[in-house]
Amino acid sequence: MKSALIWDPALTGYFFHPDHPFNPKRLELTVSLIEAMGLVDGGDHRVVPPRAATDAELLRVHSPEYVDAVKRMSVRCAAGEAWEWGLGTDDTPVFHGMHEITSLVVGGTIRAAELVMGGEVTRAFNVCGGLHHAHRDRASGFCIYSDLAAAISWIRETHGARVLYIDYDAHHGDGVQGIFYDDPNVLTLSLHESGRYLFPGTGFVDELGDGEGFGYSLNLPLEAFTEDESWLDLYRKLLPEVAEAFRPDVIVLQSGCDGHTLDPLTHLRATTRLYEETTRITCEVADRVCGGRVVATGGGGYSVWRVVPRAWTLVWAALSGQEAPDAIPFGWLSRWQGESPDLLPERLRDPEGAFDPVPRRDEIEATNRRTLESLRRQALPLLRGWGLGF
Ligand SMILES: [Zn+2]
Repeated sequence: MKSALIWDPALTGYFFHPDHPFNPKRLELTVSLIEAMGLVDGGDHRVVPPRAATDAELLRVHSPEYVDAVKRMSVRCAAGEAWEWGLGTDDTPVFHGMHEITSLVVGGTIRAAELVMGGEVTRAFNVCGGLHHAHRDRASGFCIYSDLAAAISWIRETHGARVLYIDYDAHHGDGVQGIFYDDPNVLTLSLHESGRYLFPGTGFVDELGDGEGFGYSLNLPLEAFTEDESWLDLYRKLLPEVAEAFRPDVIVLQSGCDGHTLDPLTHLRATTRLYEETTRITCEVADRVCGGRVVATGGGGYSVWRVVPRAWTLVWAALSGQEAPDAIPFGWLSRWQGESPDLLPERLRDPEGAFDPVPRRDEIEATNRRTLESLRRQALPLLRGWGLGF
C-alpha cells in the first residue's frame, strides 16, 4: 500500500503570533519525528509538497465577499472590518500574507485528495490541514479557510464520490458540518467534548442535517474526562454501522489530537493510544467499504512538545500501515530537548495507566453510552432509509 505525507516547511507560515496556541512548531516536530523514525522512505511512503488552492477551489465553499475580504486584509487590515468576518479576534487574529498561506494549507488537503482519488496512493495525510471551524463566510477558532470542505467539494465535483467525513478533534467540526448540512452525499460524523463545556458550543445529537441532508450529520458529544476505553467503545460500535449504511467512496479524516489528557485547551482524558487505535479502526472500515481510501489531516493539538508529535506519528504509522517502534530516536530527542520547556517523553506511546485514576469513570461511561444510543435511535433509521422522507 502506498501513502503520501503532504509537507513543505513553508506550511509553518500559518502562524498568528508567538503567544498563540496554534503553534506551527508542532508541525515541524511531527514531520521530523516521522522522518527520524524512518516512517517515510521516498518509495511507497513519501513526502509530497502541497500546491496552492485556486480561487475557484476556495469559492466552491466560501463566499466571494469573504474571500475578497481575506485577500484585502492579508495585505492591509482596515480597523473595524475584520470583526465582520470573524477575524481580528484573540482566537483568529489577522496576519500579513494570511490569504496566500491559508491557500497553501487548503491546496495541501486538495493535493492529498488528488493523490488518493487518482489512485496514486491509498492514504494521504496533510498534517497542516484540519481547519474545521472555518465557515462559508466567516473565520472561527484559528481557522481562516476550510481545507477540509474545499477538498470534499473537490472530490464531489471531480469524482462525484460520496464522502464520509470523520472528525475526532476534541472540538465539534462545526464549519464542515455547516457547509454540507443539506448535502446527502457528504456524511459528517464528529466525536468531540460536549458543547456544554467547550467551544464552539454546538455538535449535539439532534443536529442531524437539513432538507435532503437530514440524517447525514451525526454528532457524538462526549462527557468531559472521557478516557480511551469509553471513547473507543463508542467508536467501534458506531463507525462500522454508519459506514456500512452510507457506503462512502472515500473517508476524509480530521485527526486533531487535542483530546489528550495533557492538552491545555480541553477536558478529555485520551492517551496516545486513542489516536493510534481510532486511525487503525478507521482504516479497517475504509478497507471494507471504500477500497481503503482515506484522506487525513491534522487539526487541533496544543500540547506542542509532549503530545502532538507522538500522536500524529502514530496516526501516520496507522494510516500508512507501518509498525512504529516505541522508542523515540535519541537523535530526535537531543535535537529538540534544548528548545522544549518540558521533558520530552522517550516513548512514542503513553505507558498504560500513566494518567489514572480517571474521576467518575463509571458515570462518564454510562452517560456516553446513553448518548450513543440516542444518536443510533435517531440517525440510523434515517441512514438506512427507514425514516420519513425516504
Ligand atoms: Zn480542537
